[in-house]
Amino acid sequence: MSAHPGPAPIVDTHAHLDDSAFDADRDGVLAASREAGVARVINIGYNPASWERSRQLRERFPDQIEIVLGLHPLDAMEFRPALTIALQRAIETMRPVAIGEAGFDFSRRMPALADQERAFQAQIELAAAFGLPLVIHQRAAGDDLMLALDRAPDLAPIVLHSFDGNQRLMDWAIERGCYFGVGGLALKPGSTDLRALLRQAPRDRLLLETDSPYLAPPAAPSRRNTPANLPAMAAALAPIWSLDAEAVCRLTTRNASRLFGLGLAVAGAAMAADDGEGGLNQG
Ligand SMILES: [Zn+2]
Repeated sequence: MSAHPGPAPIVDTHAHLDDSAFDADRDGVLAASREAGVARVINIGYNPASWERSRQLRERFPDQIEIVLGLHPLDAMEFRPALTIALQRAIETMRPVAIGEAGFDFSRRMPALADQERAFQAQIELAAAFGLPLVIHQRAAGDDLMLALDRAPDLAPIVLHSFDGNQRLMDWAIERGCYFGVGGLALKPGSTDLRALLRQAPRDRLLLETDSPYLAPPAAPSRRNTPANLPAMAAALAPIWSLDAEAVCRLTTRNASRLFGLGLAVAGAAMAADDGEGGLNQG
């Protein structure tokens, strides 16, 4: 019972491998990810064209890819009532593990707030109707996000993808039982405040993600991020929680598997105390 046989599989809970950045070598990127120990990649289909590309990607790599379907807030100007119907049909036929990425992005002047609100509300309602987790994209919009989600208290778990925010948002997210997507943003040298916030996150709510091809960590060999960077990212992130890389992989894979129903076996899963599973932050 004391040994952990073999390294834990890793889950990349947020990637965009359907992005054109991977058109030249997508198969090689998936092979390298598997070689690096990344057992699953959750690919986020963020608009109708990306839903279909995500579906095709999962069809090609059925044992490596799962998909999430939604409308990115930066695509909210595309939102129409007909798009809600199209998304509902896509959820019924393509069977995603969650809805998203949805939310608010106020880091630019577009899309208009009203468009973002309509698109987000429609996806909140779909997540409620299907009982699926909701993957949130949030930039400079923590207060509006909390307001919108407080009006929907009965959703399945919420994932705050690439978590960024202040103490108020962290307190709210812990209270709400949100999951926290952690990746390249937390590894930037200037992200000292973010790392201090993430230290407070309950360990049974932590998820690893790359957001490939975006947010490559500082030490990565290329500015194009890939899931194969996750073992090194886990090692670089682990000191935030005073853990080692193996413990971070083990607990984040356990969390991702529980949340998205991935059915991944993690060695040492019965030993909750060694990496703090199930409890709030322990210091
Ligand atoms: Zn994304």
